Amino acid sequence: MPPEEVTPANGDAEPAPAADQDEGDRAAASSVVQPIKSPCSRDFYKAAHSSGTRELSAIDLIVLHDEEASTARAAAAYFQSPESTGSAHLCVDDRICYRCLANEDIPWAAPGANENGFHIEQAGFARWSTVVWKKHQLTLQRAAYKTAFHCKLFGIPVRFVDWRKLRAGASGITTHRQVSRAFGGSHQDPGLFWPRALFMWYCRRYYRELG
Ligand SMILES: [Zn+2]
Repeated sequence: MPPEEVTPANGDAEPAPAADQDEGDRAAASSVVQPIKSPCSRDFYKAAHSSGTRELSAIDLIVLHDEEASTARAAAAYFQSPESTGSAHLCVDDRICYRCLANEDIPWAAPGANENGFHIEQAGFARWSTVVWKKHQLTLQRAAYKTAFHCKLFGIPVRFVDWRKLRAGASGITTHRQVSRAFGGSHQDPGLFWPRALFMWYCRRYYRELG
């Protein structure tokens, strides 16, 4: 992804009138904010690269990334292109979630946690400060809701798993940065200043709401 300027989201943004658009256009319109609990769009389904399939019972990690792009659309479109060198299950931003691979598909996301990981890409950059991440509450909330939903679906505990626990085979929620530290790799996303405690708080809240 080419570097882009940091543009803080308007957390108060209201969906724009879309009376003259059909349903598909409405979902794609950049000014429309989809509710956090909306099903993911399949406009970019599916990603060009995966490594076969797995049993759903093999999934015991949710792995969080950043996209090094400022929109989910840019990341999902990149994954769909044959020239891409990666893939993930979901791409989220302040406005929308795109489904890029089926749950069964083994992504090209983080070596060491591909076969057993469900991978979620957040719009944003590893260089972002905590202040900038917190301007994107809707991205954090959307990623946290999808995390909680899939924890429930796959029977994964809502707890953060660091690199030591990853090496020990623990199940839970982690980041690409922790996977790199545990199993090798250079990727440090979603960065040092991604607000993990806030994110986990949202995950626990949504998990409770899911009942
Ligand atoms: Zn990553």
